[in-house]
Amino acid sequence: MSEQTITVTLATEKKPKPDPSKLEFGKVFTDHMFMMDYTVENGWHNAQILPYQPITLDPASVIFHYGQAVFEGMKAYLTAEDKVLLFRPEKNMERLNKSNDRLCIPEIDEEFALDALKQLINVDREWIPTGEGTSLYIRPFVISTQPFLGVAASISYKFMILLSPVGSYYKEGVKPVKIFVENEYVRAVAGGTGSAKTAGNYASSLKAQQIATQKGYSQVLWLDGVEKKYIEEVGAMNVFFKIGDEVVTPVLNGSILEGVTRRSVLDLLKHWNVPVVERKISVEEIFEASKNGELKEAFGTGTAAVISPIGEFLWNETSITLNNGETGELAKKIYDTLTNIQNGREEDPFGWTVEV
Ligand SMILES: *Cc1c(COP(=O)(O)O)cnc(C)c1O
Repeated sequence: MSEQTITVTLATEKKPKPDPSKLEFGKVFTDHMFMMDYTVENGWHNAQILPYQPITLDPASVIFHYGQAVFEGMKAYLTAEDKVLLFRPEKNMERLNKSNDRLCIPEIDEEFALDALKQLINVDREWIPTGEGTSLYIRPFVISTQPFLGVAASISYKFMILLSPVGSYYKEGVKPVKIFVENEYVRAVAGGTGSAKTAGNYASSLKAQQIATQKGYSQVLWLDGVEKKYIEEVGAMNVFFKIGDEVVTPVLNGSILEGVTRRSVLDLLKHWNVPVVERKISVEEIFEASKNGELKEAFGTGTAAVISPIGEFLWNETSITLNNGETGELAKKIYDTLTNIQNGREEDPFGWTVEV
């Protein structure tokens, strides 16, 4: 499969580039996209880079009825030396196949997919925005295309990659968010699909997010689906707490999505000799630690925001404020270090960045 070549068809007309200072998340797409098909007879084949355009699918396609679909999210950064860097992209391709496996989608050659991504980025290189905090967001995804209403894994698929220039997540600098502890709805349970990046996980999370938004909170804190006691994730991010001098994050339990940012924060903290543990953390423990003055910081981690400091939690009727609602020292240090490595401004002792 790696022998496969990619057919390139360039767009005859190029779209105007957006104003980098007005970029939002995921609204503008570049001139080209990558697409590859799967059939039982031919495996993954027909790899192509082609002008960005709508695709046509049979309305009976499995994706529309049973949601057999997975995706990834990653970014490319333009350095001051005009180099294009990806951040641990092999981890995303590896996770894509883990998600594929969970949803009975055939495996994709990870090296080939990464190579295809690099070729696509090179074709649309001029779309990578410059300016503090901007990047090219990358959305690889797989959809099931067989027209069949029986409940079974599709026998045909499309793997696609879209590119979208995005602005800084923090237009006015890194700012802590208010979090609503969700007691009714759950995101995932062990044995379900929580540890895979599936479209369906997101569909089922919308209701709680909508309610939290109405109440003036920016994200929900997800608790475990069995006892609604232990902390899992914050919105679509992993979550960390600094209690006393120790950093804690929920241990992977089969319902938490293993973030590349989470892994990198753990590696960074170990590198700095900051005590860090992965274990079960109850929401009660967090509120107790706050009462005792031991809760120093909390923050979410994910590709979009990198680090999202938390300034407040509301649980039932009780709210706690962290670090006077300001960004903590540790969150800031991690944010600066990760974004400096990603943008090639700081040495990368871990070999995380990959040049396109
Ligand atoms: C994608 C995702 C994350 C963050 O993963 P990163 O690889 O760090 O971007 C965390 N939680 C959920 C539910 C996700 O979908």
